[in-house]
Amino acid sequence: MAGPVKIVAADAHGAQRARARLVERLRAQGIVDEAVLAAIGNVPRHLFVDEALASRAYEDTALPLGFQQTISQPYIVARMIELLRKDRALGKTLEIGTGCGYQAAVLASMASDVYTIERIKGLLDKARANLRHLRLPNVRMKHGDGMIGLAEVAPFDTIIVAAAPDKVPQALKEQLAIGGRLLLPLGGDQQILCMVERTERGFKETKYDPVRFVPLLAGTE
Ligand code: SAH
Repeated sequence: MAGPVKIVAADAHGAQRARARLVERLRAQGIVDEAVLAAIGNVPRHLFVDEALASRAYEDTALPLGFQQTISQPYIVARMIELLRKDRALGKTLEIGTGCGYQAAVLASMASDVYTIERIKGLLDKARANLRHLRLPNVRMKHGDGMIGLAEVAPFDTIIVAAAPDKVPQALKEQLAIGGRLLLPLGGDQQILCMVERTERGFKETKYDPVRFVPLLAGTE
């Protein structure tokens, strides 16, 4: 177990102030978990988007990543991690859908270990390059189909999914530790954030906010 790390960003001019404003916006939208706010305040999101979009990196919006994918909106990253952390630590965490690696970097300062899987090789290569700058020893990346999880490392205390399947992938439920939490967007046109908690007796599902994510797709490319 590598343990949570502190991120010290090599910062562009003005980025720190822009992040501070973003954090204030998230607070105004109801995010209260100080560890989550601090992590978003520390991770240099401008390093994860193409240079042409860097000036928009601290707007609270999803941005294109190439490969028809998007970097998640900071509010939804914050909201999901806050729900997962409620009254507990993240522990050993699996992220499905690395994208550019932004959310993995945010998770790195709160989870003991982050394993992240991306199905598009070109995106994972980008994420590797992005995360290299930040030197996060507790983040491990893998090219693969996250729908089948990561059985060789399971069980996980936390699984966070950044793309929407129609129903909860069975493999991910099975790879949850007792007391573990899986949070994912569910559905097609109408998606809803769904938490699956594993207890001694089975699984408990709770529905939260309507959301909009790219679809979770099988296989790799
Ligand atoms: N976590 C990213 C969000 C990426 S968008 C961020 O911080 O911004 C969702 C990502 O999920 C896309 O890159 C997409 O390619 C990926 N994805 C979709 N289905 C997948 C699957 N079955 N396994 C792994 N990744 C998948």
